[in-house]
Amino acid sequence: MKPAPFEYFRPRSVEEAIELLAEHGPDAKPLAGGQSLIPAMNFRLASPAVLVDLNEAAGLSNVTAQADGLHIGGMTRHRTLERSETVARAAPLVTAAMPFVAHAAIRTRGTLGGSLAHADPAAELPAVMLALDAVFTVQSRQGSRKVRAADFFTGLFTTTLQAGELLTDVAIPRTPPHAAYAFQEIARRHGDYALAGVAAAVAVDERGRCTSARVALLSVSDRPVLAEHASRALEGEQPTEEAIRAAAAAAAAHDIDPPGDIHASSAYRRHLAAVLMRSVLERAFIDAGRPFRAA
Ligand SMILES: Cc1cc2nc3c(=O)[nH]c(=O)nc-3n(C[C@H](O)[C@H](O)[C@H](O)COP(=O)(O)OP(=O)(O)OC[C@H]3O[C@@H](n4cnc5c(N)ncnc54)[C@H](O)[C@@H]3O)c2cc1C
Repeated sequence: MKPAPFEYFRPRSVEEAIELLAEHGPDAKPLAGGQSLIPAMNFRLASPAVLVDLNEAAGLSNVTAQADGLHIGGMTRHRTLERSETVARAAPLVTAAMPFVAHAAIRTRGTLGGSLAHADPAAELPAVMLALDAVFTVQSRQGSRKVRAADFFTGLFTTTLQAGELLTDVAIPRTPPHAAYAFQEIARRHGDYALAGVAAAVAVDERGRCTSARVALLSVSDRPVLAEHASRALEGEQPTEEAIRAAAAAAAAHDIDPPGDIHASSAYRRHLAAVLMRSVLERAFIDAGRPFRAA
């Protein structure tokens, strides 16, 4: 199918893009990599009257390590995230997750801002940003605001982004000492959207005790979910095999209520989530410097 007719603008700066979005109101949509928006338009699931193409807007693709952490521009391509040494050093969880995002051809076009704004509950990057406690900068004609990942995703393909707003920057806080990260997902074929997935960011003290554990799940709800029971069960504790198993079981029982669909039943998703959480947490705590051992 072909999309409904639309007007097309190709601004050269963020300011110009914001002006165009403000001028055309809710009928206008930003176009980033086009990997989700264009298929939706072709199927007439989306019919924006105006497309504001961000691909030539300068300054939206920078990746820089700064004093407060890693900053990634909204138009940064998945492929750049996957290959960047700066990202690998400052946010290894992002690097670990990238090979699971779609296929190489899609990663060459898809962008971080597009993936976060699209807010597919089965997407990897929203869960990764939740685990990393990332902060998003959103700009519009009214000015700029910052939103934590935990407050950004509000439902199925829904975020706090309003018409006229652009997601311009993602800030990932600096990694604490003795921190480690792991990502895993289960999909029927590599590159497909996952049946369930888990991103974990953990840190330990000098004695190997868990000082923080942020575990985010994808594909188990209408949005990415932070497993708060897992954090509560682990923080302040030695991350033994027993403690990890208990934390994963508590999170699978209380933090999620997964949907069932033609791809997987609710019970199967819950089972996958528990298995993945256990595996990801074991991996992360080993890498955090505390050799994993049974209680
Ligand atoms: C076959 C296929 C398989 C895929 N598999 C996966 C997968 O396994 N995992 C996964 O995570 N993704 C997957 N994707 C989606 C892919 O990662 C997309 O790139 C991503 O979801 C959207 O990014 P985009 O840059 O293409 O955004 P676009 O399609 O251009 O835009 C998506 C939405 O975000 C809005 N938007 C874009 N940029 C901004 C911004 N800076 N500020 C405000 N709003 C903005 C647009 O207006 C639109 O509503 C797949 C896509 C395809 C076609």
